[in-house]
Amino acid sequence: MEPFDLVVQNGTLVTAGETVRADIGIRGEQIAALGQGLRGRETLDAGGLLVLPGGVDPHVHLEMPAGAVRSSDDFVTGSIAAACGGTTTLLDFVEPEPGETLAQALQARRAQAEGRAVVDFGLHMTLTDTRPPALAEVEPLVAAGVSSFKVYTTYDGFRLDDAGLYAALEAVGQAGGLVMVHAENDVIVGQARRALLAAGRTGPQAHPLSRPAAAEGEAVERMLALAETAQAPVYIVHTSTRRGAEAIARARGRGQVAYGETCPQYLVLTEAEYARPGFEGAKFVCSPPLRSEADRVALWRALANGQLQSVGTDHCPFFYRGAKELGRELFTLIPGGIPGIEARLALLYTWGVRAGWISPGRWVELCSTAPARLFGLYPRKGSLLPGADADLVLFDPQRRVTLRQEMLHENVDYTPYEGLELHGYPVATLRRGQLLAREGEYVGPQGGGRFLACGRPQAA
Ligand SMILES: [Zn+2]
Repeated sequence: MEPFDLVVQNGTLVTAGETVRADIGIRGEQIAALGQGLRGRETLDAGGLLVLPGGVDPHVHLEMPAGAVRSSDDFVTGSIAAACGGTTTLLDFVEPEPGETLAQALQARRAQAEGRAVVDFGLHMTLTDTRPPALAEVEPLVAAGVSSFKVYTTYDGFRLDDAGLYAALEAVGQAGGLVMVHAENDVIVGQARRALLAAGRTGPQAHPLSRPAAAEGEAVERMLALAETAQAPVYIVHTSTRRGAEAIARARGRGQVAYGETCPQYLVLTEAEYARPGFEGAKFVCSPPLRSEADRVALWRALANGQLQSVGTDHCPFFYRGAKELGRELFTLIPGGIPGIEARLALLYTWGVRAGWISPGRWVELCSTAPARLFGLYPRKGSLLPGADADLVLFDPQRRVTLRQEMLHENVDYTPYEGLELHGYPVATLRRGQLLAREGEYVGPQGGGRFLACGRPQAA
């Protein structure tokens, strides 16, 4: 047989289904074969390393406008950070401006990423207008490769009422797409916030109290009931509480097509971070907020037993100096969002696999395979099957790393995970057969990431 262009030798292949010792033969941009003793014009030694399909991060916000500022990673820096951390596919969002059609907004957002992102990317469409002209665009968008639609139950300018949520669910469900929802009850959040401000609670310590677990619990339950009636599949983003996870599990138990995502910050950190002295707690302000230790443990249990299906980062970084500081006098003015695009795989390995919550196969499923399936990219992404894109991560399970902001490639002046001890870290990342990152440094070309047309959701 003619030698392969590249052979990744002697690795332990970890997929959602199995763990095997094998070489991977790559031709061009695809995996061509798995086997023993494969010959290649070039080789990469993976002895002692795990070899996984590239990470698929289903939830990131690069260069996203947020009031007076925008998230500080753009498609260049954010995708380089992703690659260095073992993520080769990003799913970001299109947020249409008033007066723009959804198709126009999609073209503009694609143009922002194309030629700049170094990893492949797909896009979700945010729906803030559910009148007929907008909803008539849903079906052609699904055909054009945007099969997931995000709705919000809170935030002025984004929030839909129940009628709007129902209309979105019906239209997207009929078109064969997937509705993603940010679920927090807006009235509960508003009342809690007013009470805190009236009591003079203006610091970041008040942030978690302003978005109680009841807000998430109610909105997840309501969204599931609406989706059940509209017969639409639904994906709850950034599930942060036991209440939210249990509601999703109950709906799935009834046979509903419902999925739940959580994020590394809810699996590794807790609301104790907000009690840091001075304004330091602002570094952890995201919505929903970090939760209790009991919630954190419940989320791990839900990932382990299949009640939650996906882990995305909700990466939305803002500099502490100059951006987070806008809320120094008033916590409600702190830009909401935290960085995390780079450390997802490593955090989930140490805190999930090493801690005994999940197997290596489940780790790969949560970080790669399940998101690829849910957003219609499997098996091209999220698998090591012949014919799949040769997106590979070489992961050293023995590497010990103390996480520091200086070692990360995210364009932001802190990491919420500063000082955490990791046991296992990615050492090389390939995107479609090309080496992008090695030993914590970006070694790939500029750009090269491609827009991915997402298909219909597959069960996960
Ligand atoms: Zn988000």
